[in-house]
Amino acid sequence: MVETINHDVVIIGSGLAGLRAAVEIMRMFEEKVNVGIISKVQLMRSHSVSAEGGTAAVLYPDEGDSIALHAWDTVKGSDFLADQDAVWTLVSHMPQEIYLLEHWGILWSRREDGRIAQRYFGGQTFPRTVYAGDKTGLFEMQTLYGKLQEYDNYERYDEWFVTSYVIEDGEYRGVTAINMKDGNLYLFRSKAVIIATGGGGRVYGFSTYGHTVTGDGLAMAYRAGIPLKDMEFYQFHPTGIIPSGILVTEGARGEGGILLNKNGERFMKKYAPTKMELAPRDIVSRAMFTEMKEGRGFKDEESGLEYLLLDLRHLGEEKLNERLPLVREVAIKFAGVDPAEEPIPVRPVAHYTMGGIHADIRGRVLDAQGRWIKGMWVAGEAAAYSVHGANRLGSNSTAECLVWGKITGREAGLYALKSPSLPPMPSNEKVAGEEKRLFDGLLKRESGKETAYQIKKELNHVMDTHVYVYRNEEGLRKALSKIRELKERFKNVAPSDKSRIYNTDFITVLETENLLDIAEVIVVGALERRESRGSHARTDYPKRDDENWLKHTLATYSRDGPVLSYWPVTITTWKPVERKY
Ligand SMILES: Cc1cc2nc3c(=O)[nH]c(=O)nc-3n(C[C@H](O)[C@H](O)[C@H](O)COP(=O)(O)OP(=O)(O)OC[C@H]3O[C@@H](n4cnc5c(N)ncnc54)[C@H](O)[C@@H]3O)c2cc1C
Repeated sequence: MVETINHDVVIIGSGLAGLRAAVEIMRMFEEKVNVGIISKVQLMRSHSVSAEGGTAAVLYPDEGDSIALHAWDTVKGSDFLADQDAVWTLVSHMPQEIYLLEHWGILWSRREDGRIAQRYFGGQTFPRTVYAGDKTGLFEMQTLYGKLQEYDNYERYDEWFVTSYVIEDGEYRGVTAINMKDGNLYLFRSKAVIIATGGGGRVYGFSTYGHTVTGDGLAMAYRAGIPLKDMEFYQFHPTGIIPSGILVTEGARGEGGILLNKNGERFMKKYAPTKMELAPRDIVSRAMFTEMKEGRGFKDEESGLEYLLLDLRHLGEEKLNERLPLVREVAIKFAGVDPAEEPIPVRPVAHYTMGGIHADIRGRVLDAQGRWIKGMWVAGEAAAYSVHGANRLGSNSTAECLVWGKITGREAGLYALKSPSLPPMPSNEKVAGEEKRLFDGLLKRESGKETAYQIKKELNHVMDTHVYVYRNEEGLRKALSKIRELKERFKNVAPSDKSRIYNTDFITVLETENLLDIAEVIVVGALERRESRGSHARTDYPKRDDENWLKHTLATYSRDGPVLSYWPVTITTWKPVERKY
């Protein structure tokens, strides 16, 4: 019998989105709404701590910025696929979030006049990225964690791995999770749940994300029948250090860093003459791939990777130490290059899941017909209320986590407050079925010749080869058939460690299963979308096609693979125009 744990609201994920939601519930309803926060890693190990460059918000209308400009930059950056009502929500809530964090103790970097400093990020018409050195995510997380500790009506479940969402009769009933410390499965029941599980960055091998970012929250939603939206849009950040893929923040170019090819040319002048290195990421990444393809890149003999150079030397040691200390440290440690003296070898790197769980502007999780799955919300990188469309602008993601953390925290808290009781107990079949699948199925399975590590390695390779910055039908078909082969082979994967306690081998098996599911969704969506828009660049369909493709993709689970349907884009203010920088 699976043991049950009850809360008013369960939050899955303790990154920026999950923590912001928890803080909001405590601020609004402290005594009245009790919260459980589940995370598969220790709270401060959530991936948000690695956000570097900053968070976008309009702070200085007196100096020329405006909410409308932030909205326009975001919509244009999204290649017009963002839902414009969601974009207005993001930009209008953000200034207050910056000041709230300030009041809660964050140490924002300052200008000489004492006001909060801001710098340029790609696609911005005004330097509106607020930052704390180049460790913004760490400081934001610490501040929210500190704030949370003022309250006590919550419970933390660190190192608990959620395995499924239980939905019955179109309504949320609970989630199942393995407590890694005792290896048992538990059922969490709550009136409301907020999914804040982050993205799926490790579907790629050359990626800025840590190995824990495996798209679990997305895959669980998909398997529970919830559609994933716009998954074919995956962001490639221009500057991953080779050979590791560790990020050099866009803040480096915001501070004046330039990109050079093998001939020492500042090649961005050909591709985005106005914005140069500060064009949006999809444009800079494509430019870099073109330069390398046309023979103007360098080659790292050891890894076989081609690369270009990010030159920060002219910023000088003092500015590097003050504004970009982490970049300097990481370049020295992981590329053996001191940016004060030499350019950094970089190439585009998988960085952000633009797609996610289908949701409305309030973060309410929707089915393919647009009906709310009662009791469920989603926030942060796991969500697709479509604020980023086909290409996210840098520093809008941490912003999104804060805004929808607040919105969903408030909504879910209020809903829990008004609900007299927990939803009905889910059928034993569902919960016992999950226990059987995990422990009798996966864990006890005879270890064969396949391992999760090998499957993941091959998956990463095929995604890096065929589903990267440029795609075409032939490559995508190859990728799909490889992913399906890997899914078949996965049926023979079993953890070699059969114990229950802290079985990280078992967790890797579960994570790999999740990666395979979301990879299939990405590729099927990418194959079908016969146009180029934002981060989705098809060499066989190089143009944006608004007539046929100005719509969101929804992918719904079926035994035979994702079934696609489409969802309208909300256009409130700006009609799509050609995107020039
Ligand atoms: C290197 C790097 C730098 C970045 N810099 C910036 C930046 O400067 N500005 C910006 O705006 N954006 C930046 N981003 C993007 C931004 O950091 C992320 O999009 C954002 O932090 C995601 O936050 P989140 O709360 O949605 O998810 P995360 O912080 O990834 O948290 C996910 C949470 O879900 C939990 N979880 C996941 N699966 C399970 C499961 N199965 N069971 C239990 N718990 C689970 C995890 O334990 C974790 O607590 C950067 C990203 C990277 C990789």
